Amino acid sequence: MPKELFAIFGDPVAHSRSPLMHNRAFRELGYPGCYGRYRLEDGTQLRERFLELGLQGINITVPHKEHAFEACDVLDPFAQKVEAVNTIVLREGKLHGYNTDAPGFLRVMEEFGGGKRVLFLGAGGTAASSAVILREAGYEVTILNRSAGRLEHFREQGFETATWESFEPREYDLVVNMSSAGLTDESLPAPEELLRSVLSGVKGVVDVIYGKKTPFLRLAESLGLPTKDGSDMLLYQGVIAFDLFTGGRFDRGEIERAMRKALELVSSEE
Ligand code: NDP
Repeated sequence: MPKELFAIFGDPVAHSRSPLMHNRAFRELGYPGCYGRYRLEDGTQLRERFLELGLQGINITVPHKEHAFEACDVLDPFAQKVEAVNTIVLREGKLHGYNTDAPGFLRVMEEFGGGKRVLFLGAGGTAASSAVILREAGYEVTILNRSAGRLEHFREQGFETATWESFEPREYDLVVNMSSAGLTDESLPAPEELLRSVLSGVKGVVDVIYGKKTPFLRLAESLGLPTKDGSDMLLYQGVIAFDLFTGGRFDRGEIERAMRKALELVSSEE
């Protein structure tokens, strides 16, 4: 049986765990798929490359989720609303676009619990789609960002926003690092003094970064707070993407078990 080809597009992509997760699930579930990685420097070429390579589906990571949105013929209503696509599936010659990051993140938040008043640190694409899905699920989201530029988009949608300078803290149940602070460096997502004052009354802390313990999570742990990193978000978005790639024929619990095994293997090797 010829294999269907899938890939992750991004720049960089060398670090991505998506190939491991998807290939493990293809193997365990007996689906004839093969998943690779493709470093795409120019996002405007996403559609062309996708078709040239003969792919059946892709995931898209930084910095091309907006380009992926532009490249699709058909958009899922949620992807349309947040204007960011991280999963594309080819059906009858058309590129269908979805956003699986935000539902993956919502599931993490629901499992973590702790309350509905949430402060986001960071205002990038991931924060944008996650803020919308949380609000639809009844959360109250405030966005705090280093600089003002990206906050405009959130304000237009009715979110409360602030920069570090204009911030007047309220009470929050959960604080989430939605920024890339700590991803490749040792920086905190906001000044330490500000974080210490905000974290003093919260029930828990979440970071969307995975694969390392960020300075933000270390600070929260030192204050005795429950914490959660981004590994389950990665897993849950992958499960939904796999379900879309394979046309909903497998039980999501089985997909998740296979992918979790792949992730446990890498983390035990680190
Ligand atoms: P973007 O590039 O769109 O946004 C980056 C945001 O981080 C901006 O708000 C930026 O602030 C802020 N930022 C960057 N560096 C710092 C710093 N040193 N201090 C304070 N703020 C900083 O990124 P994305 O939204 O695409 O991704 C955000 C994070 O989410 C990344 O770490 C990514 O790895 C992670 N992610 C995890 C997933 C998972 O499955 N676990 C899925 C998707 C994303 P400013 O506006 O001032 O520049």
